[in-house]
Amino acid sequence: MDKKDIDQNGKTDLLDVYFFRNLVKNRFFKPAINLILFVFLLIIIYYGLSSHADLRFPGGNPFATIMIWDLWHPLLAFTIILFGRLWCFACPIGAVGDWTQSVFSLKRKYPEKYRNLWIAVILFLFIFAAERHLFMFTRNPPNTAYLLIFFMALAVVMGAVFEKRSFCRYICPIGLVLGVFSMLSAVELRCKSKKTCHDHDVKECVIGNEAGKACPVGEFPQAMERNNYCIMCMECVKSCSKDNIRITPRLPGADIIKSVKTHMDEAYLIHGVIIIFLFVMGMERLEFRNIIINFVRSIAPFDTVIYRDFFVNYWRNMWAVTIFLLITLGAAGLMYLSARLSFPGENTKQKFISLSYAFIPLSLSVYLAENTFRLLKGLFYIAENAGRAVGQTWEFSISFETINHLQIILLLSGFVFTLWAGYLIGRKSPDHEKGLQQSMVAVGIAAVVYLIIGIKILTLPVI
Ligand code: SF4
Ligand code: SF4
Ligand code: SF4
Repeated sequence: MDKKDIDQNGKTDLLDVYFFRNLVKNRFFKPAINLILFVFLLIIIYYGLSSHADLRFPGGNPFATIMIWDLWHPLLAFTIILFGRLWCFACPIGAVGDWTQSVFSLKRKYPEKYRNLWIAVILFLFIFAAERHLFMFTRNPPNTAYLLIFFMALAVVMGAVFEKRSFCRYICPIGLVLGVFSMLSAVELRCKSKKTCHDHDVKECVIGNEAGKACPVGEFPQAMERNNYCIMCMECVKSCSKDNIRITPRLPGADIIKSVKTHMDEAYLIHGVIIIFLFVMGMERLEFRNIIINFVRSIAPFDTVIYRDFFVNYWRNMWAVTIFLLITLGAAGLMYLSARLSFPGENTKQKFISLSYAFIPLSLSVYLAENTFRLLKGLFYIAENAGRAVGQTWEFSISFETINHLQIILLLSGFVFTLWAGYLIGRKSPDHEKGLQQSMVAVGIAAVVYLIIGIKILTLPVI
């Protein structure tokens, strides 16, 4: 390998840590982790299916909902800055697709026209829109189990039909969110030397060899400039005979600034997450919820008292999905308008897309704010049960006011980092001074609107 080329990188490589490197390269380590988590997933599904659908009734067992919605999901959100998509290394659902392929697969190419993230974006937004009324996953253990079964079945079917990890690359909504937020993460997997890749006749990371499989998501380390699609499976670490892969700590958020490739689907998701999770936090506040429910009731073309079941089961659900669709379009529209006003006569669509990446910190902070209460609830549940197991009574609680303060701090931090990201993205503009000012205005307008909405919602009294 070209010494000068490596020195130019001058980066710490976690793979230089002997123990870590051996673990990553071990053929049995990843399957063992996948298998253990798969068994745990089956246990969660079993408890979910055997619970009463409503946790308030006898027979309601919260194990499945607590494990998925109060622990796994918030923990992923809160650890993404440190570990990026490392969860995908361990994920049993992705592994189920792999196992299917090792038995049978038609190995078709995933259709060209669907090689984008729109299906994953729609699935993600639909799950959280439908959560409120339609499925109530967070309060309904059987529905949580069905959701897990649905994604496992989808991974199996896609593994049986398509080559590689098409499910992980294009469909998985969790992979989608992890991908976008991993642009902020403090680690990256890249090649050590682009020249070594360039000079390498046999691109083992692309075609695979006896030591490791071909990259399952079609990444090529020489061309990687962002974390989004790499599922940290470590196959390239195993297959690269030139020892040219590094896993390096870095400044969080580096991808937002460096990345040249930008996409409409990701830009839409970034705004969608901000507005949906602000809305969800609003629905936890009686005053806000009453406004929405009264509005939905007022436009019903039937008597909502007489047809109460129809109202609750269908009309409200239909409006939950409609409102989520409208507010996500509205949020993206706000940024589009802001870009249009700030860059008159320029390509608004391109400006909208590239500047939307500045909102990833705000998007993550709102996502974390919504998950703060759930994570604490999940951790308290574990602590209480651990205490019970050793004959102790360990009870914890936290006031809603404290959680509210934490949520406001998160929102404000996201706002500040979004302005900072907007500044750094704006600085890349070829028309330096003017471009920077225009970018700051465009990002500033939308960020301030989000901040006002967020503060307004978070200062309403919690029920
Ligand atoms: S993309 Fe989704 S299914 Fe695939 S490994 Fe990651 S979380 Fe699991
Ligand atoms: S096998 Fe290694 S050196 Fe060759 S192209 Fe892939 S990462 Fe680069
Ligand atoms: S093979 Fe390498 S680049 Fe491809 S997903 Fe796995 S870790 Fe990422």
